[in-house]
Amino acid sequence: MPTNAQKDYYALLGVKKTATSDDIRKAFRKLARKYHPDVNPGDKKSEEKFKEISEANDILSDEKKRKVYDQLGFYSDQIDPAQAAAYARQQQGGSPPIDFGGFDFSGFQGEGRGFGGGAQQQSNQSGWGGFRDIFSGIFSGGGGQQQRPRGPQPGTDLEYAVNVDFWTAIKGGTARLSIQKQELCPTCHGHAASGGSTTCPECNGSGQVTQMGGRMKFNLQCPRCNGSGKVQVSCVTCHGDGTVTRNEPVEFRIKAGTRDGQRIRLQGRGNAGINGGQAGDLFLTIRMGSHPVFQRDGDDIFLSVPVTVAEASLGAKVEVPTIDGRSQLKIPPGTQSGQKLRMRERGVPSAVREGTRGDQIVTVNVVVPQLHDERSREIMRELAQLHTDDPRKELFNKL
Ligand SMILES: [Zn+2]
Ligand SMILES: [Zn+2]
Repeated sequence: MPTNAQKDYYALLGVKKTATSDDIRKAFRKLARKYHPDVNPGDKKSEEKFKEISEANDILSDEKKRKVYDQLGFYSDQIDPAQAAAYARQQQGGSPPIDFGGFDFSGFQGEGRGFGGGAQQQSNQSGWGGFRDIFSGIFSGGGGQQQRPRGPQPGTDLEYAVNVDFWTAIKGGTARLSIQKQELCPTCHGHAASGGSTTCPECNGSGQVTQMGGRMKFNLQCPRCNGSGKVQVSCVTCHGDGTVTRNEPVEFRIKAGTRDGQRIRLQGRGNAGINGGQAGDLFLTIRMGSHPVFQRDGDDIFLSVPVTVAEASLGAKVEVPTIDGRSQLKIPPGTQSGQKLRMRERGVPSAVREGTRGDQIVTVNVVVPQLHDERSREIMRELAQLHTDDPRKELFNKL
């Protein structure tokens, strides 16, 4: 039987089937040092051995490839892991799934497409290498039939943007939104079937399908009905999906200091899995609302504060708003309009670095008084006479 000709990668590396990836790596390194072509120049046997152990290492050191190999006894890049898993389950069911229809394989050695792989291959063993590629055609669903996966299927993740008002993001609280998600079908509880059965549409009830592999014809156990010739009738509620789409209200905690654009993950709140598969996650991206006075950038708060000419020129202590209420700000004498004053640690308490908070940055906006009485105008003219410096002098000097 050709199945006996499949390579035992574990034996090649001299490790047990239960070997860890570390065991495999160590075993391969040890053998590689012994059989490497550089160490054995011109030694064909060593070269062949090195190729074999490299192949074994390539498959067994890759978790996905190893799984397929464990399930099928061979590996090909064209094999879909989900279908390999389905095949493995099918095999556990009992009857031999692949029927070679009485072909004599001995005559195919080295002949035709897909077999042998050329004259360089010395052992019969490696001669069957190409055989795997024919199998792969079977597992990659060559017939173009859409098969419903029968194993546990994890649910997909969901991504939503949530609008959170300015204060909730700063102080923390709860936020709500409504999402649309796939939930387990209440009728069939995710089994996707009603309990009744009907003739399998793929094999028309025969339990077998025919697959071409090169010039050969294989009779296979029907993958859709596992050879029984019957398939289960789809659930009327979910039409065989196992899930239904529902609107669901979601309420979640917002941590104090949450920033605009921050992403929150709610594990297991995404779409339901089917056949016992895990639910996906729900990802929420925070869109923070704005405020008429405060602008926020990260943990810093920005705002513009009007001051009088007297306060700006003489210096003053003025009251300014902060996110915690009113606070005193010292305006130094001679402060110019547009100047920025930093109020340390008056910004947002950080959600990332516990115990730290941002700053508040105040932009001074000097308000020029409208003078409606003669006395005020007189004082201003007097002041002008005391300060005859031309503030535009620099401007012209730079021309
Ligand atoms: Zn069938
Ligand atoms: Zn259902």
